[in-house]
Amino acid sequence: MKTQLLVNLTIEDICNGFVYNSIENKGLYGWSGKLTIQPEYQRNYIYADGKRDVAVIDSILKEYPIGLLYFVKVAEDKYEVLDGQQRITSIGRYLTGKFAILDEHDIPHYFESLPDDKKKLIKETKLTIYICEGTESEIKEWFKTINIQGIPLNEQELLNSIYSGPFVTKAKEVYSNSRNSNINKWSAYIKGEANRQDILATALEWVSRGQKEHYMSSHRYDNDISELSSYFDSVIDWVSSVFIDVEPEMKGLEWGELYERYHTTSYDPSDVHSKVQKLYEDPFVTHKKGIFEYILGNCLDTKLLEVRVFDESTKRTKYNQQKADAEAKGISNCPLCAIGHDANRTRIYKLAEMDADHVTAWSKGGSTDIKNCQMLCKTHNRAKGNK
Ligand SMILES: [Zn+2]
Repeated sequence: MKTQLLVNLTIEDICNGFVYNSIENKGLYGWSGKLTIQPEYQRNYIYADGKRDVAVIDSILKEYPIGLLYFVKVAEDKYEVLDGQQRITSIGRYLTGKFAILDEHDIPHYFESLPDDKKKLIKETKLTIYICEGTESEIKEWFKTINIQGIPLNEQELLNSIYSGPFVTKAKEVYSNSRNSNINKWSAYIKGEANRQDILATALEWVSRGQKEHYMSSHRYDNDISELSSYFDSVIDWVSSVFIDVEPEMKGLEWGELYERYHTTSYDPSDVHSKVQKLYEDPFVTHKKGIFEYILGNCLDTKLLEVRVFDESTKRTKYNQQKADAEAKGISNCPLCAIGHDANRTRIYKLAEMDADHVTAWSKGGSTDIKNCQMLCKTHNRAKGNK
């Protein structure tokens, strides 16, 4: 049995020449006539329920993977879909205007009515396809092993079976072995279970900078895994030396990416530690997971922390106070307009024309409560800039 991985075919390629037979409910052909989508032995198309078919298109638009597709090579330049016919048929039917999806405002969109960038995104999405070639019984046997009794293998387990060889065997001894005493330490930073290959998947993700399958295929017959393990150790050692703390929110962060971006910057671990503690205690920080990247980036990108904003009743109370004061004094209710020299000096803004501002910026210790709130006209609030 031979398998071959194709990663460069796009949805446009596969749906070229897509034919759907609505009498038989079958997607028939694609890939410029080379592909039979639903051969006789496959069940009919069952995704046309306005949910599963729509979900396939939503995933593509969100750039989520739609999973592996398996084709069997039946003759020179002739293929049949072994697994993936429902997904391919959904995509083909969408591209040929057979159903619509709803956008975030619940407006239906057929393919033709999508904005051009979304059309392009769909057409250019690359698919991951395994082509298998062998006798029918070989293919059936192989397909059985990748779908053990209805418990589908996850992506990494599948990759392990496709790229089985000395490299995967050695890597599994280290990363998929729940008796490895390091697993505990690693699990502080990595989500999932060793025996479901989640740690191995992460290690491969890191060393390959997201090109896991290429990495596995090019190292398939290697007898050592030293590049994989030394890169993995570097990332783990780096995280655990920069951050003395082990917080639950550290689990599953993109440590490989953060390592690439920040490992050449130096940090003082005790200074980092006190920043972590302070941000954890700060009730205005609503996104604790963002704390680590925020500190690594020199505490500049406050967006990562999703700092709490003023609520509507605080804004309204403050607005009413400022307006009453301003009217008594005959000046603008925007304090910055009031000290200016133009016509806005005496202008009274409506609530909708104003925004709430932190008098002392949050990053300088200012809190998100009414004592630290002032209403400014939108122009002045924007001019004060992003804090
Ligand atoms: Zn103003």
